[in-house]
Amino acid sequence: MSGQTHLPKLSIGSLGGTVSMQASANGCAVVPRLGCEELLANVPQLRELAQLEMATLGLLPSASLGFAALLDVLAWARVEVERGAQAVILTQGTDSLEETAYFLDLLWPFDAPIVMTGAMRAASQPGCDGPANLLAAVNVALAPGSRGRGVLVLMNDQVHSAARVRKTASLAMAAFESPGAGALGDVVEGVVVYRQPATRRQVLPLPQRTEHRVALLEACLDADTALLQAVATLGYEGLVIAGFGAGHVSGCWAQVLDMLVPALPVIVATRTGSGPTARATYGFAGAEIDLQGKGVHLAGQLCPRKCRILLWLLIGSGRQHLLQSLLPG
Ligand code: GLU
Repeated sequence: MSGQTHLPKLSIGSLGGTVSMQASANGCAVVPRLGCEELLANVPQLRELAQLEMATLGLLPSASLGFAALLDVLAWARVEVERGAQAVILTQGTDSLEETAYFLDLLWPFDAPIVMTGAMRAASQPGCDGPANLLAAVNVALAPGSRGRGVLVLMNDQVHSAARVRKTASLAMAAFESPGAGALGDVVEGVVVYRQPATRRQVLPLPQRTEHRVALLEACLDADTALLQAVATLGYEGLVIAGFGAGHVSGCWAQVLDMLVPALPVIVATRTGSGPTARATYGFAGAEIDLQGKGVHLAGQLCPRKCRILLWLLIGSGRQHLLQSLLPG
C-alpha cells in the first residue's frame, strides 16, 4: 500500500483475462500469469492518484468465471468499501465482461462504484492497452460523478453502463459499445465527462440458492425443437430465447412454448444485438403478440445473455414475479 495516506483509498482486485496474460517466450501463446501487484507495477502513475489495496482474486480466462466466483468477488468488494475504499476496480477478461458487470451491478448496494476493465492485447504484446485502461479506470473510480452509478465498464477511454454494454468485436481495440444507448461518458485527458446523468438503480437481494439453472437458446433458421423440448425435462428452471428480429420464434417453437410456459418463466429477447423487442406490431404465430398471449416475457432492451443473469438472480431469491417489471421497455 502507498505511504501517501492523504490520497483516497481504492481497492483493486484482479481475476485474470488478457490484461493479466503474458507469453512465456517469444512466439508462445499467452496465458494468465500476472497477479494484481505485477499488473499494477506497469502503471506507476497510479500511486500518485490513490492509496491502492491490491488483491489477486483469480487468474482465469473470463469464459471460466462463474456465478459462485462472482458472489465471492461481490463479498470481497463489499468488505473493501466497508473498510473505507472510495471505489473498487476489477480487472478481468473481456470475453464475459458484459455479463459479469451486469451480474454484479444487480447486486451492488453502495454509491461507491465498481469499475471493471480489461485489455484486448496481452501485457506482453506491443501496444498493450491494459495499462491505459487501468489508469482510466482509476480516473473513473475517483470521479465524484461516478458515484451512484453502480457497476461501470471502462474500456478504450469510454465508460459504459453494465446493463447496456456489449463486446461487439472479437479482437479490435474498440471492442465495446452500448448499442442504442451510447457510452455513458468518456475519459478525456484523465477527466471523466459523463454524457448522461445517473439514473435510479434497482438492487436485488443476494440469491438464497445457487444450484438452479437457466437455459439460453438461440432461434435460427430451420431449427428443430429437440433442445427446446428438453429444457423442462433437463431440470432448467428458466429459459431465455435469443429470438429473431423484434422478439420472434418459428411457428413450431411457438407450439412448444405452449407446453413450456406453464412450467417455467420464459423470456424472448432479440438476437440482433441492438434495439428493443416489439409489443404490438406483428400478428403471426411466434411473433410478439402471440408470445405475450402465451405468457412469454419480452425482453425489451435487455440482451439475451443479460436476461439469463436477471432471471437466474430472481429465481435464486424467489422473486420471479418481479421479472416483467424489471425488463426495460
Ligand atoms: N479477449 C479476452 C480478454 O480480453 C480473452 C480472454 C478472457 O476473456 O479472459 O481477456
